[in-house]
Amino acid sequence: MIYTNCYIENDPELKDIVVEDGKFKEIIPHKEYSSEIETVDLKEKLVIPPFVESHIHLDATHTAEKFLFLHSSSGSLFDGISNWAKIKAELTEESIYQNALTAVKQEVSHGVQYIRTHVDTDSVNNKAIKALLKLKEDLKEFVTIQLIAFPQDGIKSHAGAEEKMKEACKLGVDGIGAIPHYEYSHEYAVSSLDFATSLAAENGLLVDVHCDETDDPSSVGLETLAVKAIEYSLFDRVTASHTTAMHSYSDAYMGRRMHSFIDSRINFVANPLVNVSLQGKFDTFPKRRGITRVKELLKNGLNVSFGHDDIQDPWYPIGDGNLLEVLSMGLHLTHMLSHEEVMNAYKLITYNGAKTLHISDNYGIKEGNPANFIVLDADNFYNVMINKSVVLYSVRNGKILAKTKPADIKVNL
Ligand SMILES: [Zn+2]
Repeated sequence: MIYTNCYIENDPELKDIVVEDGKFKEIIPHKEYSSEIETVDLKEKLVIPPFVESHIHLDATHTAEKFLFLHSSSGSLFDGISNWAKIKAELTEESIYQNALTAVKQEVSHGVQYIRTHVDTDSVNNKAIKALLKLKEDLKEFVTIQLIAFPQDGIKSHAGAEEKMKEACKLGVDGIGAIPHYEYSHEYAVSSLDFATSLAAENGLLVDVHCDETDDPSSVGLETLAVKAIEYSLFDRVTASHTTAMHSYSDAYMGRRMHSFIDSRINFVANPLVNVSLQGKFDTFPKRRGITRVKELLKNGLNVSFGHDDIQDPWYPIGDGNLLEVLSMGLHLTHMLSHEEVMNAYKLITYNGAKTLHISDNYGIKEGNPANFIVLDADNFYNVMINKSVVLYSVRNGKILAKTKPADIKVNL
């Protein structure tokens, strides 16, 4: 099979993609083929690697409309957590599975093929972990799903949480989480991070912490997480999600700590669509933007990706799994709208996400890798962002996994 006549990432020359046995066999300059050869004409559209969802909570998705009391929520992170406590008690393993499947289908329709989901470890009989492990197995041919054990109510401040985290390891999660800004004290925050990173190191797992998801600049879990990544030699196996408090750290503090973040080589995930809405809730005016220092971290050589975080749940009532919407919000909030920044912005939801998930070895459009890619309805990424282009095809192991027909809009002027 040959996918012909496309632009690959920022390469200005038209190329053809030769696929054999589900892998990229060759990327060659575009040419014409005889009719006996099976080809798909991509009509000079843009090909990039599949989108990577580096932060979502599949176990909570699609619960907002069923629980009407959510509509009177203040919309803060902490209200979301207490509403989630009521909701999760009513969910079953089957309903979690179905809600998550709906969300995965939405994400796949928008070009996602790799997903890291956090999963609440505090559910009766581990129903959330079991539901998502089943989903991961059922869909593994079509979408790669990674599970992070997430202690939603804290590790040190919530009775039984440590045992639940150890059980999650036995059940087969891929990584360990923590939520230091929700612990009762700074001492508990530090201790929870030591517990999470040591548990990951012992079990050969990844780490992804909900870290400093607040506007309070005294929330400094990140400095401990970076130190733990170094102490346990975990380095880039560790991710700090959110880090919205960094928005409010002083420049002097950042100047003092940046070298430890660099030495730790940890990844960062920002969730601009959700955090611009969740943060700033204690501000009158001005209201903070709820985003970490993306541009500054990137300039210092650190890896940053963007995630959707929530789809129609107690923290975010809308959303449909479209990472291009997340990206657009992120580029606005971080003042990253120069031509070069927009042309390369796809990397925040492709390569950088793959680095966070620790899957870079088999990811990307190069010979020998699984033939996984997406085709966008534009000739370059700048035009994707201008036109809000759809994902025409999502190709997995050389076969079309999803396709979308662009809208046919006519204006009678
Ligand atoms: Zn989250």
